[in-house]
Amino acid sequence: ESIEELILRLCATVPDYPKPGIVFRDLTPVFADGPALRAIVNALVEPFAGQFDAVAGIEARGFLLAAAAAYATGTGVVTVRKAGKLPRPVFTEKYELEYGESALELHQDDLQAGSRVLVLDDVLATGGTLAAASRLFAQAQVHIVGYGVVLELSELHGRSALPGHRVRSLLRLN
Ligand code: 5GP
Repeated sequence: ESIEELILRLCATVPDYPKPGIVFRDLTPVFADGPALRAIVNALVEPFAGQFDAVAGIEARGFLLAAAAAYATGTGVVTVRKAGKLPRPVFTEKYELEYGESALELHQDDLQAGSRVLVLDDVLATGGTLAAASRLFAQAQVHIVGYGVVLELSELHGRSALPGHRVRSLLRLN
């Protein structure tokens, strides 16, 4: 079984969540399976091996991947959080949602200027979330070595929101 087949077999598809007309891809069964979790984390890290000092996870499902990837590679983990969750001085970047606006934050001193980070999340859709994360790391003067996602929803063209960056996705679906 290839990694694509493994993810496809375990991924749950939820029609009309969180709103009518949206087809939500739920990867929690992939995370809940021991061999699958290890396989996806190893596959996300593999192209970037030796190139990063820390792994950043996007709240909340990205945290699971980032902590596992950091532990597996002996690097640190940092959290990119929704606004208002981090207790000390932060960088903030707003981004557009389908309705309204949200913001992501990063502690100003969690990573040193000049350090290298791999950024992980579960799903790449429009790319708005990871584009906001890339602006956060630019503020922090941290170099992004690449992005890793388990699932890329290709027809939303999220990659084009991340110009100049390597994007590793393990499965592409429309
Ligand atoms: P984007 O900003 O690329 O449009 O959306 C990506 C963000 O929304 C990610 O943080 C991801 O967790 C979440 N997301 C969007 N669509 C889905 C989906 O179908 N399934 C899951 N699990 N997350 C999604």
